Amino acid sequence: MLEDIKQISNPFIRAITSGLFLSTLVTIPASAAIFLVNAKNESTYKLIFYTSIVSATVGAVGGLAFGKRKHEASEAKIVSPLGDTDWKDWRKFVVDRKVKESDSITSFYLKPLDSGQIPNFTPGQFLTIQLDIPEQPKPVIRTYSLSDYSELSEYYRLSIKREPAPPETDLPAGIASNFMHDAIHEGSVILAKPPAGKFVLDTLGAEPAVLISNGVGITPMISMAKAVSLLNPQRHIWFLHGARDGSFHAFRDEVNEIAASNSNLHIVYCYSRPNLTDTGKFQHKGYVDANLIKNIVAPEIQSFCGSKDATYFLCGSASFMDSLRNGLREFGVSDDKVLFESFAKAKPKKSEQIQDIRQDGDSREIVFSKTGKTLNWNPSDGTILEFAEANEIFPDHSCRVGVCGTCACKISEGEVDYEENPTASVEQGSVLICISKPKNTRIVLNI
Ligand SMILES: Cc1cc2nc3c(=O)[nH]c(=O)nc-3n(C[C@H](O)[C@H](O)[C@H](O)COP(=O)(O)OP(=O)(O)OC[C@H]3O[C@@H](n4cnc5c(N)ncnc54)[C@H](O)[C@@H]3O)c2cc1C
Repeated sequence: MLEDIKQISNPFIRAITSGLFLSTLVTIPASAAIFLVNAKNESTYKLIFYTSIVSATVGAVGGLAFGKRKHEASEAKIVSPLGDTDWKDWRKFVVDRKVKESDSITSFYLKPLDSGQIPNFTPGQFLTIQLDIPEQPKPVIRTYSLSDYSELSEYYRLSIKREPAPPETDLPAGIASNFMHDAIHEGSVILAKPPAGKFVLDTLGAEPAVLISNGVGITPMISMAKAVSLLNPQRHIWFLHGARDGSFHAFRDEVNEIAASNSNLHIVYCYSRPNLTDTGKFQHKGYVDANLIKNIVAPEIQSFCGSKDATYFLCGSASFMDSLRNGLREFGVSDDKVLFESFAKAKPKKSEQIQDIRQDGDSREIVFSKTGKTLNWNPSDGTILEFAEANEIFPDHSCRVGVCGTCACKISEGEVDYEENPTASVEQGSVLICISKPKNTRIVLNI
């Protein structure tokens, strides 16, 4: 019975019930005693009456106190089932809200299924998610930038562009992005790893930052602009975004709203083919390129901040970033002032592949020890990941650009050559196979 009373969540009902329970418990045996001894004097009845009142009061107070302890316990459970440091691997998240941002981009607001806390992140970081997609031989892993920011994270927002099939080919459309758009709804559960990534903005820094994006590359930039506006609004930020026209421009209202409350956030939208309805909604007709930075943005930085020094953040299509990186270099911006994030790997041009084969023709042996396959790799086979996939070995991977670290695997013999420096942290004795090739005549990988 006591256990049943403990389960009552409303404190008043619990107090009344436990009061009645205790008073009944005292009054019944007392009445029985009166009946047996046949006590007829008034003081005995008074004693029984007062005993019932006292026991009812004690019961009610006890019920309240019981409840209070129980309530505190359940609150503590909600606050800290998982501290920031406990979450290292996959954790279940439920889609709390799904919001269409444009024809091709949809946002997903994720909350942990366990109702625990989620760690804050540094703006620019991403989440790695895992999806069980029917007809896929294994879970699909992808990385998505966190596209929102608040001082205390209560949810994570991912904004995902639907990847259509490349035109005039029979290649399939993007697996994960289409699945997210079509099959993941409010209430769906997906797995995610903690926020990671080094493409981050130090929110408390003082140097002006220029955030440059096109397409869905806008996602980390929103997070950066929001964070600085919240935590360090006196810092000057230039927000440059390129789109074909207004219908391709997601998050315009959201970014305009941030700028409306922060006069140090300077917006430059560039539309390459604006519609009539776009009049007044963009600042420049054309592309975001180094000329725009040289002729418009740099003079503005100089006039607001007294120097042209700034840190540049780039995120967008591969060709967009290549051209901006080269342009900034020509304009005299040193490489250490330019940070960039690639969402997709640029395909090497045919001529580069041929040159690669001519430069380095000898084959190397790769032992995939877990799979039990030993295969000969040639420079034309590409990265170790590409080579493995071509030989029906499918290691876990996601970004293919050395950013997310999903493809890290142990190497027990030999070394690899990286095509570019990995951005993800790589443990001693491990290598990232998505951007590397074998260095020695024989390497052994734990795949
Ligand atoms: C750090 C990071 C952050 C990211 N953040 C975001 C973000 O915020 N928002 C976002 O939308 N994306 C983001 N991405 C990209 C995202 O991770 C996925 O790469 C993207 O959603 C495509 O995944 P998919 O499974 O839909 O496409 P995939 O199935 O991986 O296909 C990718 C493309 O290749 C084409 N393709 C399919 N098969 C072949 C083939 N055999 N040969 C050549 N092409 C082929 C597909 O049609 C598609 O266009 C980010 C990536 C990284 C690395």
